[in-house]
Amino acid sequence: MQFTGYCRCGQLRLDIEAPALPPVYACHCLSCQRWSGSAFALHMLCAAPSVHVTGEAAIHEHGQDGQRSTQYACAKCFTRLFNETTAAPGMRVVRAGVLEGAAQLAPVAHIWVRRKHPWISLPAHVAQWQESPTPEAFARVVLG
Ligand SMILES: [Zn+2]
Ligand SMILES: [Zn+2]
Repeated sequence: MQFTGYCRCGQLRLDIEAPALPPVYACHCLSCQRWSGSAFALHMLCAAPSVHVTGEAAIHEHGQDGQRSTQYACAKCFTRLFNETTAAPGMRVVRAGVLEGAAQLAPVAHIWVRRKHPWISLPAHVAQWQESPTPEAFARVVLG
């Protein structure tokens, strides 16, 4: 499957080529709320080699909860497109909202739902975790 994504100004572009639809999930943690300035973040978990970047990225590295994370944003308009984290080695976590056709990407899981804003109702059949699942538990659910 192919996906294309852009920052707001269009200077930084993502091209994703994956053998199957990568899992899309919502994270309701406070960090994602703050990064996004919204109630939750929508992430697409992609194998790093499947995500190709074109344009000039501004890179921000930081540590959190014992993990290292590297954020990639447009160097001109500062839209954040994806990050890499030691919590998910070999992956790139793409902000799914930057992708064309993002409206069709319903999340298959919700994590950190104990931080979920109370006005948000989640579908009962979608996997939920109160905090972060282990990578193994997450893979079992979203990869089948
Ligand atoms: Zn931009
Ligand atoms: Zn989060």
